[in-house]
Amino acid sequence: METYIPISFLNDFIFCPRSIYFHQLYGGYDTQLYQQKPQIAGRAAHDSIDKKSYSTRKNILQGVEIYCEQYKICGKVDLFDADIGKLSERKREIKVIYDGYVFQVYAQYHALCEMGYQVRSIALYDMTHNKTYPIPLPHEDPEMHQKFENLIKQINSFDMNASGFVPVEAKCRNCIYSNLCDYSLC
Ligand code: SF4
Repeated sequence: METYIPISFLNDFIFCPRSIYFHQLYGGYDTQLYQQKPQIAGRAAHDSIDKKSYSTRKNILQGVEIYCEQYKICGKVDLFDADIGKLSERKREIKVIYDGYVFQVYAQYHALCEMGYQVRSIALYDMTHNKTYPIPLPHEDPEMHQKFENLIKQINSFDMNASGFVPVEAKCRNCIYSNLCDYSLC
């Protein structure tokens, strides 16, 4: 059976490759056990999409399972308006547009294109400040898209047991798994 990378891993892996291990370990458990406030709030932002309550229009895809064969990625589409070809990823609050945010919408973009949809624009949406950040399509930003492809390769070849991993204290301080991780510097 082929292995697919969950879309949520893209951001986690950039933050710290070891966090993927904990994500997999606790993915099936009650998230209240290990999530802290910002993560819980961020999750709440997605609830209306996950419960498919944002819109009942047939041309709106929300919380629909998607698979991208080309990059072997799986996950859910946040919000796609098939009429105008607009793909949006909602975040509770956006302080910085991290590469991981962009890669998450790239993954959705590729999956939707494979499904035959025409994606004309993509954007990140900050729900707290009601602000939209347009993101260039992958072919409009080849450098960013190359980084996306490199990330997929890194995730596929990452070895948890390989030596040479160096934790970053600032990241450990903000890591929801710091109490569980042997490498934590906190
Ligand atoms: S505690 Fe530090 S080393 Fe461990 S997963 Fe979190 S960021 Fe990575």
